[in-house]
Amino acid sequence: MYKFLSFLFMFQIKTFTFNPFQENTYLLTTEQNEGILIDPGNYEQSEHQELEQYLNENNITLKYLLNTHAHVDHVLGYEYVNRTFGLTTRLHAEELPVFRAVKTYASNYGFVFQEGPEPTELLEDGQVLHFGGNELEVLFCPGHSPGSVVFYCKAQQFAIAGDVLFYRSIGRTDLPGGDHATLLRSIKTKMYALPNETIVHSGHGPQTTIGSEKIYNPFVNE
Ligand SMILES: [Zn+2]
Repeated sequence: MYKFLSFLFMFQIKTFTFNPFQENTYLLTTEQNEGILIDPGNYEQSEHQELEQYLNENNITLKYLLNTHAHVDHVLGYEYVNRTFGLTTRLHAEELPVFRAVKTYASNYGFVFQEGPEPTELLEDGQVLHFGGNELEVLFCPGHSPGSVVFYCKAQQFAIAGDVLFYRSIGRTDLPGGDHATLLRSIKTKMYALPNETIVHSGHGPQTTIGSEKIYNPFVNE
């Protein structure tokens, strides 16, 4: 019986779409009702409230903050959620300069950016993160930004992909630290190595699957 129950460990996935860049912020919840927030893009007061209301109504204790990368639209809520919840925060080491640069250019996009604490832990390629009975594997996928990572859940066959791979598109590479050839290599060697059934939850736009992108994505040619 207990052995059987061990197969029931599952993340619940909730998607929020925040800020003028229509960035997807993901909330994974464990069976212990612990929350893992990925890419906090909440900016307006109404967006902070939307997040908190969802946590309260579903009795979720927010404990962890992960970032696929640190472009401004993915960290607008970083200071707020840290100040409010006091989280364990994780980012890839190669992305730290990107994180630190946000305060210097956020105003160019019209944002008032609150500088927050630095990430408390650095992520490495192949690292497995444990949350209760659930696991996420860290896949280092640079190119859109130098320290982009994808969080892959093998048991449930989904990936939180940040801005690496989108529905029928790929991340832009014209921002500092971006590199087109590197991005294509990351997609082909890391993301396309995942099972075709894997559901891809991207940083912008609708979800997709690895299998359908292999067939229909016009930007990734074999
Ligand atoms: Zn980005």
